Amino acid sequence: MNLFSTHYRSYLIECLADKKYDLVIIGGGITGAGIALDAASRGLKVALIEKNDFASGTSSRSTKLIHGGLRYLKQFEIALVREVGKERAMVHKLAPHLVNAEKMLIPITKHGTFGKMSTSMGLFVYDVLAGVEKADQRMMLDLEQTIKQENLLSQVKDLESSGLYAEYRTDDARLTLEVLKTADQNGANVINYMMMEDFVYKNGKISGLICKDRLTDKKIKIRSKYVVSAAGPWVDKLRRKNNSLNNKRLQLSKGVHLVFKRERFPINQALYFDVSDGRMIFAIPRGKTTYVGTTDTPYTGDINQVKTNQNDVNYLLNAVNENFPALHLKSADVISNWAGLRPLIYQEGKDTSELSRKDEIFESETGLISIAGGKLTGYRKMAERLIDLVYEKYAKTNSLKFKKCRTHKIVLSGGVFKKAKSVKKYINKLFEEMSHYGFEKIDADYLVHNYGRQAQFIFLKFKELIELELDENPQKERQIALARAELWFGIENEMVIFPMDFFQRRTGRYYFDIQSVKEIYNEILIDFQNYFSWDEKELAKQIQEVESYIYNANNFE
Ligand code: FAD
Repeated sequence: MNLFSTHYRSYLIECLADKKYDLVIIGGGITGAGIALDAASRGLKVALIEKNDFASGTSSRSTKLIHGGLRYLKQFEIALVREVGKERAMVHKLAPHLVNAEKMLIPITKHGTFGKMSTSMGLFVYDVLAGVEKADQRMMLDLEQTIKQENLLSQVKDLESSGLYAEYRTDDARLTLEVLKTADQNGANVINYMMMEDFVYKNGKISGLICKDRLTDKKIKIRSKYVVSAAGPWVDKLRRKNNSLNNKRLQLSKGVHLVFKRERFPINQALYFDVSDGRMIFAIPRGKTTYVGTTDTPYTGDINQVKTNQNDVNYLLNAVNENFPALHLKSADVISNWAGLRPLIYQEGKDTSELSRKDEIFESETGLISIAGGKLTGYRKMAERLIDLVYEKYAKTNSLKFKKCRTHKIVLSGGVFKKAKSVKKYINKLFEEMSHYGFEKIDADYLVHNYGRQAQFIFLKFKELIELELDENPQKERQIALARAELWFGIENEMVIFPMDFFQRRTGRYYFDIQSVKEIYNEILIDFQNYFSWDEKELAKQIQEVESYIYNANNFE
């Protein structure tokens, strides 16, 4: 039985209410996902609950880089850079379709933050700390080579040279999901739209959780020896509920990204460039788009409603336009956006951009173990540290034998490829088949980078659905059939419940192909109606919800 299928939700809820777990994790972002996989693969009985959709918090709103955090070198965070730097190659190995090598280019200008020498030294140290293989180590390019590498940089005033170094690109939400699916394959019980409402205590120690199924409002009690809060920006809220909030607390910082059509910001190479206020931002090409980010501002608003505002937009537009004046990017050029919160650890007298990105574990007297901070990139190591700690506690009261972390050997679902080259071969093979139906290479790239080898099931379903001869608009028919096949896959295997689960976090279409969302949402929502037996009122409500997201993609307050 595939418990990650939406169809088995009620059975899964019965399991959650019946079993007694070793560990329950609150939060289905990358931190919770990593912990669930680590714990389940060491043989612990694990449950994970997420109050919204998986990765709907910070873990779908990052810059989507698996990176060592070059800028943390400036803050002398050597240990952090070394750890996450090394993890890049590891996560790439575990999911080579989803974590792709991507060279990053830093333009060096006459009056920029870093000169040629300091960039060269910084990148060298970065490579050494991360153990980057020789062939991939940084290269310093002269002016001519720089412009050859990225023609658009010819617009940059006083450009002198550049540094080219190795990073990895990913899709944060899909990475979270594949880690969760792999945790499920290792025996964890994982569920979305299940909200932790209260802790249950026995003799002053947490012994379980009261949770509400947000689809039915029914409550269940989940019993567990240990409870971990991996609730990201919500960590302090839960610590407060547990009366364990002390002066070590979170400082939230908002980060915004904007998406443009690639033809409006036509780069072929990922860039990391200076802004006149001393910060640096990324511009990253993806599919038919280029995305730009990020801002870094203290946040005290509603953590359930984090929105991009016109100030954020203006900041990023200025940052691009001051470097690339001929582009004249305007608010109207934005086609989509996202805003997220960094759950950073507060330090007296420091600006949000100066705060450490290191993770931290807080233990309360009642037994609540909370983890916050950290990076998407470091999720596996964070999980290892946390589960080692659980074993240590466990050892004091139980006779459970310590088992070592195994996640460095566990390939993530969809990622069974011998090496990165095999991904390319697989894409080419799939494209050969897809081209018979009029698809382009970019479509095969999209499917394989999103789903890895699971793409073949989606394509098989597509072939079942497509009826080419029926339509006078085969291009649209094709697009709808492919999205319907993806939805079928998402419901059968990825716990899709609502349309935005599908458009934002399973497919990334809302961010990187919003035009397709506009063209197909009516047909896709009819499928939803059929799968979930929605009445007309529910269908109308869901259509309105999708339309309001489409509106918010490029309208700002
Ligand atoms: P979250 O993803 O927020 O997950 C916490 C989850 O807990 C949420 O889904 C929430 O719904 C759930 N939850 C809360 N309360 C409850 C409850 N009562 N019951 C059930 N569930 C609950 N890192 C990188 O490595 N590379 C990058 O390029 C990068 N870029 C970034 C850019 C920005 C703008 C930001 C904001 C962060 C970036 N990061 C990056 C950092 C990275 O995204 C975060 O460290 C990471 O996503 C945090 O994940 P998390 O699981 O701890 O939190």
